Amino acid sequence: MATRIVILGGGTGGTLAANRLRRDLPADDVQIVVVDQDDHHVYQPGLLFVPFGMAHPRDIVKSRRRQLHKGITFVQAAIDSVDLAADEVHLVGGETLAYDVLVVASGARLVPEETEGLTGPGWMEKVFTFYTPEGAEALDHAMAHFEGGRLVVNVVDMPIKCPVAPLEFCFLADSYFTDRGIRDKVEIVYATPLDGAFTKPIASETLGGMLAERGIEVVSEFNTGEVDGAGGRLVGYDGREVPFDLAVVVPIHGGAEYVGRSPGLGDALDFVPTDEHTLQSKAAPNVFVIGDAANVPASKAGSVTHFEGETLVGNIERFLAGEPLEPGFDGHANCFIETGFHKALLIDFNYDTEPLPGHYPSGFGLPLLKESRLNHLAKLLFQSVYWHSLLPGRDLPGVGSTMPTTGKQLVPSDDAPPTNQED
Ligand SMILES: Cc1cc2nc3c(=O)[nH]c(=O)nc-3n(C[C@H](O)[C@H](O)[C@H](O)COP(=O)(O)OP(=O)(O)OC[C@H]3O[C@@H](n4cnc5c(N)ncnc54)[C@H](O)[C@@H]3O)c2cc1C
Repeated sequence: MATRIVILGGGTGGTLAANRLRRDLPADDVQIVVVDQDDHHVYQPGLLFVPFGMAHPRDIVKSRRRQLHKGITFVQAAIDSVDLAADEVHLVGGETLAYDVLVVASGARLVPEETEGLTGPGWMEKVFTFYTPEGAEALDHAMAHFEGGRLVVNVVDMPIKCPVAPLEFCFLADSYFTDRGIRDKVEIVYATPLDGAFTKPIASETLGGMLAERGIEVVSEFNTGEVDGAGGRLVGYDGREVPFDLAVVVPIHGGAEYVGRSPGLGDALDFVPTDEHTLQSKAAPNVFVIGDAANVPASKAGSVTHFEGETLVGNIERFLAGEPLEPGFDGHANCFIETGFHKALLIDFNYDTEPLPGHYPSGFGLPLLKESRLNHLAKLLFQSVYWHSLLPGRDLPGVGSTMPTTGKQLVPSDDAPPTNQED
């Protein structure tokens, strides 16, 4: 009987893992099944551009099943639970899928209802999120009609997908209102639970400096307890209040709900405890995890998911061959940060090395931790790379899955602090 690999989730990680496995493993011997609840694959980085009229949701969505190579079975159904002891997945509707290897690729889920008041009065009227296609589209309308006042961008709690996206929203808002000629009428405020602009010190200093230069106020260590949409204020657990006319909120994230219904699979937030280097779950040896669903200490980002792909697929193949797994994943993350005015900045880091200045992927590549037009163009081009190279599971020329060190200023010198301007 053929070996059965069942992949839960047909987003970034599930799709690229399925395509890479299909390329490597003979279809006669190995059956690959991908399960997802819908057939709409959203290019999530594109959601950032929707509120600024730079993209429309219809431009960033494609059929999921069409991204899967021939010889992969797509099952459109909601997952109800996983029975680890029986090696079975239960689907809503009653169908059961048996597996030899399970890949959890079901991402992160937004839970706005966890925050008091967030989805109450004012939700989708003056309180929005751009983390969903509907939210981003509604916010586009609200931004176009915003004539002045306090725009507050708020991260309720970490972890979130793409931790730089709310910062990018602030920079793009600065650029957008400048273009509309009303920047002097808009106060932009970034309220974050972190103690600065970002989690890692050098990038946090660079990005914090850029926010200050643009007159964007940072309210740090702010833990949102309540969103009062009718009264137009965020209320922190420490009693601080942040008033707003328009709020852009990134809600609390958790893992997929079915994880919580699957005894032994997840943690308290429904993420899946996973070995950070081999990507094997801690729940069972034949369960592997890719992307946002894993509780590894890497960013929840498509780039991380992509870099995990090589290790994940290699280790599933080793597992099937009875060979020891390789601790190949180093936590590599790589993010373009839109900074407005047709520029972007790039950061590249892993579990051990924080984002540093220099160039990527070698001494002659894209500038790191520096604004440039080239980085902005690369960010825009990335959508095409996503659909045509990353999802099909192709290796990107010159871009390895482990973090490159050549081109990086590994120990930044005190007398030459990183600058952030380059044309
Ligand atoms: C606004 C925004 C901007 C972003 N920008 C960037 C960026 O610039 N760079 C970057 O690298 N990353 C970015 N990301 C993050 C990136 O999109 C994600 O990290 C990446 O898509 C994770 O892939 P995944 O496969 O883990 O999850 P997903 O791609 O989200 O896929 C999970 C899949 O599981 C399915 N699923 C979940 N539960 C069930 C169930 N019960 N039954 C059936 N199916 C289920 C879902 O339908 C979904 O298709 C951004 C994200 C957002 C929201």
